[in-house]
Amino acid sequence: MEQLIVALFVVFFALEFTIEFVLNELNLRHVRARWAEKQIPDFFRGKIGSDEYEKSVQYTLAKGRFERWAEIYGRCLVLAVLFSGLLNWLDRFSGELAQRFSLGVYGHGILFCLAVGLVFSTAQLPINLYSTFGLETKFGFNKTTIGLYIADKIKALILGLVIGVPFLFMILWLMDVMGRYWWIWAFVFISGFQLLMIVIFPTFIAPWFNKYEPLKEGEFRERILALAERIGFKTSGIYSMDGSKRSAHSNAYFTGIGKAKRIVLFDTLIEQMTIDQGLAVLAHEMGHYKMKHIRRMLVVQTVFLFIGLYILSLLVDYPPLFAAFGLSPSNHAALVLFSLLSGPATFYLGPLINLLSRKHEYEADCFAALTLHDSKPMEEALVNLTIKNLSNLTPHPWYSAYHYSHPTPTERIEAIRQCAA
Ligand SMILES: [Zn+2]
Repeated sequence: MEQLIVALFVVFFALEFTIEFVLNELNLRHVRARWAEKQIPDFFRGKIGSDEYEKSVQYTLAKGRFERWAEIYGRCLVLAVLFSGLLNWLDRFSGELAQRFSLGVYGHGILFCLAVGLVFSTAQLPINLYSTFGLETKFGFNKTTIGLYIADKIKALILGLVIGVPFLFMILWLMDVMGRYWWIWAFVFISGFQLLMIVIFPTFIAPWFNKYEPLKEGEFRERILALAERIGFKTSGIYSMDGSKRSAHSNAYFTGIGKAKRIVLFDTLIEQMTIDQGLAVLAHEMGHYKMKHIRRMLVVQTVFLFIGLYILSLLVDYPPLFAAFGLSPSNHAALVLFSLLSGPATFYLGPLINLLSRKHEYEADCFAALTLHDSKPMEEALVNLTIKNLSNLTPHPWYSAYHYSHPTPTERIEAIRQCAA
């Protein structure tokens, strides 16, 4: 039985790796071929300079080549952790530590999960460092200093401990005392926890990393107020964020539910856009709010959570699974194995979620065009954002269908014109 489990895992693991590797290679070749023919998409002709286009191609290729090695490295890492006996060693080590400091069985479980997390985040550090200080610096995007980088990591670690330890304790406790239907209790707990995080994240956690300020007085603000009034969005929820202290990339997003909802514009975005374009971006974000996209996404995630926990409840009582990866059965080992094994079993869900997300983006774009009675500002905002961020103008269609949470700029502009007509 153990051999069969390992074989099944290896098959799914290899399948996921092959798909992602091949898609990346296809995308690289596609971009290179378009570049050789100088095939700039219609909507960008006359708007993007040849040096800007050249730079966006180089940026896309550099990221793709890096992704190739990062992917191989990440895969080897998972295999090494699963099959080197490290998990079993960490389990025994955290058990001894828990015994020495009388932390009990939950302490043992929490230490084990933290240790596995530490192994992965340490091993990913070189990838992360190169991406920030190598790639992003080379193309002029990175604004993070080493000091800020270290401060960010320390803050993230503190947050992870303050939130993660009580969270793990609750899950392990529920698994322990709630009997057969512990997973239903865990489902209720995690769902509530997620809702709480959606509410406290923008107001209490995000401000620890960035400064959020109401928009400055002026024409932009005046016109936003008028637009928000017309749509029925509370203007106290519109902020500008100092994204420029880490990166020159620009962005905007809508987050939260109920009273905690807010629209965040990066200062880099406000700087790069005309007032009309900025207003279109805001109308787009308000479209997400109007059409309840956050709530819809949350419902989908909750369904996945329910199914996932049910499967976990079956695995906990299945000793061959633990034996297959050299572990003794325990609740904490089940949690770690589940998180390591669920990737290869669920990778096809990613593109499905992206499909739903892209549908939401089309809807928000259309909403913006209709609300402003003009499709031009939204189109121009998209073209502007794409050029300034050196985004890939010509992704391979399979690559974007699989990986992109937003439709490509060309797809979006086509859809906006159709919607406006
Ligand atoms: Zn959007």
